[in-house]
Amino acid sequence: MDERRCPDCGVGMEETSVRTGDGMKLSISTGKREGLLGKLGVGSTTSLDAVRCPECRLVRLYAAGD
Ligand SMILES: [Zn+2]
Repeated sequence: MDERRCPDCGVGMEETSVRTGDGMKLSISTGKREGLLGKLGVGSTTSLDAVRCPECRLVRLYAAGD
């Protein structure tokens, strides 16, 4: 995985996790329903990976997969 840098500080960002109050990982809707998972009806969301800047505490979210 390429190192992610803060766009403001230029320092490397640290992996972190973002969860709901219930401890569930956050996910977003992709709208995709392709392939086997799509046929099973579970292909329309993807999890989010989060990185955090140790300097300014900016958090960026990346959708997993494609
Ligand atoms: Zn920063």
